[in-house]
Amino acid sequence: MMRFLYPQTLRTPGNPRAAAVSRSMESFLLLAPGEWRDLVSSLHHPSLFQHERARFILSRVHIMAALLAILAPFRIAVDELLLPHPLFILIDSGRVLVAAAFVILAFFCKCSPTQRHARLAMVILFLIPALFFLFSHVLLARTPLQGAAEYFDRYTYLPFILMASIGVFPMVLLETLAFTFSLLVVFALPLWLWEDPRILPELVDLVLVASVATLAAMSQLQGMNRLFVQSTTDPLTGLFNRRAGENLLTLLFAQAQRHPHALSIALLDVDNFKRINDQWGHKAGDRVLQDVAQLLRTGVRMGDAVIRWGGEEFVVVMPYVNSVQAQARLQTILGERAVRGPDGQAIGMSGGIAELQAESGNSWDDLVKLADDRMYRVKTSGRGRIVTE
Ligand code: GH3
Ligand code: MG
Ligand code: MG
Repeated sequence: MMRFLYPQTLRTPGNPRAAAVSRSMESFLLLAPGEWRDLVSSLHHPSLFQHERARFILSRVHIMAALLAILAPFRIAVDELLLPHPLFILIDSGRVLVAAAFVILAFFCKCSPTQRHARLAMVILFLIPALFFLFSHVLLARTPLQGAAEYFDRYTYLPFILMASIGVFPMVLLETLAFTFSLLVVFALPLWLWEDPRILPELVDLVLVASVATLAAMSQLQGMNRLFVQSTTDPLTGLFNRRAGENLLTLLFAQAQRHPHALSIALLDVDNFKRINDQWGHKAGDRVLQDVAQLLRTGVRMGDAVIRWGGEEFVVVMPYVNSVQAQARLQTILGERAVRGPDGQAIGMSGGIAELQAESGNSWDDLVKLADDRMYRVKTSGRGRIVTE
């Protein structure tokens, strides 16, 4: 199930004790309390953010794979000089295979940007050199090398390079733990399988590198999250802004067409809002908009999204819901607790709903237009209703 939790970042909690803890944490770690949760697990990331992060990770996987494809064969010439003949052929065949695998990953593995695909691409990116590490270790550990032994000790640099490169990706703590722990297990295998004691001090250092890489990966995620919140949040209401809303609609529309399911879009407009501004001033109008946003945000279900479409217009997107269900849902939200203007009068809202399955529109634009036309008809016939046709 998709989630659209609203950005908690940079928001000050109402509770004074929580606010004090938040301030001290902020001063030390530059973190807001809500941020912790999203840095530890991706469970509550809004789906738009999941999409952006997956896109970013996949692009970094492709860049890293292309870079490693170029760098992997670099030592073939040196190996040829220093390694005895059959060993040279074996190790450098491995290098060529690794380079080929990276080329395939960099240029031929294109997939849709989902979290699952991003994680899978990272697993492949790390699995290729990890297998090469084990392969080269088996060969080098069993061959007595004279003169060049020190050079071949450098093959043990590979785990450090891989571990450090985890910091390239914006990841939550649980993901970095999964990756660093898996890499540690792979790199500890020679110790266990061949009782190679040289590995032990390296493992201790690797834990250190893993900790720093974890911090780097989480810092990337934090920076990305803050930029995301800033660029997608409407500052007055805290809802998604129009630009984020359009991206979200594109994403949800594509999902609803790929795996066919209902998708309803409601366009809601505050009735006679200009009068509030005119009679009580712009600030009072702003407060009404904030109250309406709060009512919608807390009323919709997990999986729905509320967007400030413009001025006093809001779009509510409801996946897996047909227009009749969407109408009932919105009528309940708006009927249970009315927003009141400065004079205590209930603020009315008019709305139109359009549904993807039933109307089979060509794009989300068509659906929003249809919902807008329906809303306009309500405006010209008395206001205060939400209609589906
Ligand atoms: P109707 O019932 O037909 O929708 O009438 P209305 O008065 O609500 O609609 P109209 O489009 O005439 O007025 C919308 C007003 O909303 C005009 C604009 O000044 C005001 N507005 C737009 N954005 C904001 C905002 O951020 N804050 C405040 N206070 N007012 C805003
Ligand atoms: Mg309007
Ligand atoms: Mg209006």
